[in-house]
Amino acid sequence: MKHATITLFALAAFASAPLFAEDKHDGAEHQTRTEAELFTATCEHKIPQYTCDECRYELGLVKLDPSLITAPGKAGLVKILPVTRQNAQSLLPLHGEIVLNDAALTHISPRVAGTVRTIKTALGQTVKKDGVLFELESPELGLAIGAYRKNKTLAALTLKNLEREKSLVAQKLSPEADMVDAQMKYDEYRVELESAGNALAVMGLDAKAIAALTADGQSGKPSVLPVQAPQSGIVIEKHLNLGETVERGKDVLTVADLSSVWVWLEVYENDLPALTAEAKKGALRVQVKVSSLPERTFEGTIDLIGATMDEDTRTVKIRAVLGNAEGLLRPGMFCAANVVFETPEKVIAVPKSALMSDEGKHFVFRMVRDGFALRTDVEPGRDFADSVEITRGLKEGAQIATEGAFVLKSDVLRAKMGAGCAD
Ligand SMILES: [Zn+2]
Repeated sequence: MKHATITLFALAAFASAPLFAEDKHDGAEHQTRTEAELFTATCEHKIPQYTCDECRYELGLVKLDPSLITAPGKAGLVKILPVTRQNAQSLLPLHGEIVLNDAALTHISPRVAGTVRTIKTALGQTVKKDGVLFELESPELGLAIGAYRKNKTLAALTLKNLEREKSLVAQKLSPEADMVDAQMKYDEYRVELESAGNALAVMGLDAKAIAALTADGQSGKPSVLPVQAPQSGIVIEKHLNLGETVERGKDVLTVADLSSVWVWLEVYENDLPALTAEAKKGALRVQVKVSSLPERTFEGTIDLIGATMDEDTRTVKIRAVLGNAEGLLRPGMFCAANVVFETPEKVIAVPKSALMSDEGKHFVFRMVRDGFALRTDVEPGRDFADSVEITRGLKEGAQIATEGAFVLKSDVLRAKMGAGCAD
């Protein structure tokens, strides 16, 4: 009997402690009150506490102006969404390195030997497709242009002659054999002209450039070959100096499009079966982090699983493509990554941005009445790619703040900062 009394007393003391403790102003009182009690409690100012601008925070309640809430067609500071059951994900942590996307990289080498006369780009500079990178003065090009010009002139002459012969034969003033002869001559120079044009095209000149270089006004001028960028990107390598003589085929510039990068990740043999099985279902998602940008997560997909294993590390390399529109990821950076596996298990989970913590306690903001969000303590479980499992404290369908929860957090914690009931 005595034992039972003590137990009851202890329970009562425990239950009332948070309500009266003067040093507890952290909005934690909601934990011991029912929702109805929150809205009937009266504060020291003799008004319902939830309406009191000074004492409301102690209840863990935040009054949310409708203008702050995101609605269809209107972006707000706070977004409210119902809690859902989601597929649990398992994350495979890996390490790797950011490298250049080889598929978006071009090594530029002149297709004809020559002397570098102008350089119109520099290391690290952005270049546009078809923009002139440098110009070469080339004797070889000069010969090719000469051959083109000669054959162009001869083709024109023989064509004129052929037309004259055709007309004479029609008037029976010339034997047909003369026309056949003229046709053969014209055909010969037409073919010669075609092959001279091909020779210029092989040197990297398009029809427009050929026309410009072989125009009559260009006769006698040095033969300068403009070397154009085959793609847009950044000059990441340059082995090119003014006045230098470069050979055909020498790599003089490398232009890389860094709007996407590759990341090579190492997978242990044990993890490989799960990975290959998952990859068969569709593109595997990967989240990548680099130490210089700890708050950023970069999304990518795995596009290649290596065919061989490194004998020393017992790992297989897998490759992911990452978007890099902002240019933040630099080839050579080391990175940590999580490969995301979807599982059939359904669990309650909330977006990472919904979960707040303070002094080791985790909570979300749940809408309890129109315009009121209540700090609701929860027990987080496993970490997923974009969400966190909630194992206790939250039911499916509850309306919670999924964005802007930090604003509500600073509001309920302001009593703690000394701005609430301080008397
Ligand atoms: Zn008050």
